[in-house]
Formats: sequence, C-alpha cells, structure tokens
Amino acid sequence: MELSRREFLKLSGAGAGGIAVLGLAKPRVTQAQGPTEIPLHKKIGETTTICPYCGVGCGFLVASENGKVVNLEGDPEHPINKGGACAKGGAQFQLGAQNPLRLSKVLYRSPGAADWEEKSWDWALEEIAKRIKSTRDANWIEKDSAGALVNRTEAIASMGSASLDNEECYLISKLMRALGVVYLEHHARI
Ligand code: SF4
Repeated sequence: MELSRREFLKLSGAGAGGIAVLGLAKPRVTQAQGPTEIPLHKKIGETTTICPYCGVGCGFLVASENGKVVNLEGDPEHPINKGGACAKGGAQFQLGAQNPLRLSKVLYRSPGAADWEEKSWDWALEEIAKRIKSTRDANWIEKDSAGALVNRTEAIASMGSASLDNEECYLISKLMRALGVVYLEHHARI
C-alpha cells in the first residue's frame, strides 16, 4: 500500500490517539510530574539500598515484613534511576534467597544419564575441585609457540551469570586468572 506523506501523518496521529485513549502511552513519570509522584506498590517498612549488579548504581526500596523481603522496587527519590529499573535490577526479588522456586540442593546428572540425583555440597565441591585440577594439569601451557611465557590453560572456560553481583564477579575473575583461565566471560557481553 502506498501512502502520501499527509496520509501517513494522519494515520500515525490516529494510532497514537488510540494508544493514548487506552492509557498505554502514558509515561510512568515525567520531569514535570517529578519523581516523587510515582506511587509505590507496597508501602511497608521500606529501606533504601543500591542495586548490586552494575556500575550504574540504581537506588531501590526494599520492603520487609517479619524479617522477610516482601517487595522491591526502584526508589523514586534516587537521582540516578528516579524509580526506574532495568529488567535485571527489577527482577532481583526473584533471584533472592527467599524465592521458593530457587533450587536449594545440589542436583547432579552424570554423563549420559537421564535423571538428576541429589548430592551434598561437600561432594559437589570436592568433585569440582578434582575435575578443575585434573583438567588444568593435563592442559597446562607454559610457553606459547613463540616461546613467550604464558602460564595458562585453554581447556577451562568460565561463564558468568546475570545473578552474580559485583563482588561475586570480582572474586570469580580473581580465581579464574589465578588458575590461568583465559576464556573468562559474562553472558551480558555475548
Ligand atoms: S537496575 Fe539495572 S542498570 Fe540499575 S544498577 Fe541494577 S543492573 Fe544496573
């Protein structure tokens, strides 16, 4: 279908008008309204905090009841995010220890098996350490093809997750570099 410029503008105007009538185009906050006019979803004992995930440093309000986190949302009075949150920061509540859907036990599926078996943390940590050591020992590269000292292994890779906070990312990168791992990534960069 071919549209003239005038017809296109008329149609766009009608579309935007329809959305506005439905209330879908209304912004959550505008500069004119001021950030403090965003209503909080749950007003219960809020405490201010900072999102642990990235260097933007958005402010959040955490509400708790009987020692448990019951709500978490962007702080409307924080100068950086003014009540907003990206998908990762906004989903912190789901990643928290109080989410009943989180796995709380070690599950292991041996190579070729179809089922998962429950294991203890002691077993899992021992196995992980054993496998890292044997893989690293068997694939250690002291010097590259030009004879330069490199001290690395290319047989182990580390992939970070969205639920790692800044401190966890720091510790993991320190550990991987100490092990000589060079394939060190975070999924947000892929
Ligand atoms: S809410 Fe998103 S942008 Fe803000 S600090 Fe957290 S991860 Fe970074």
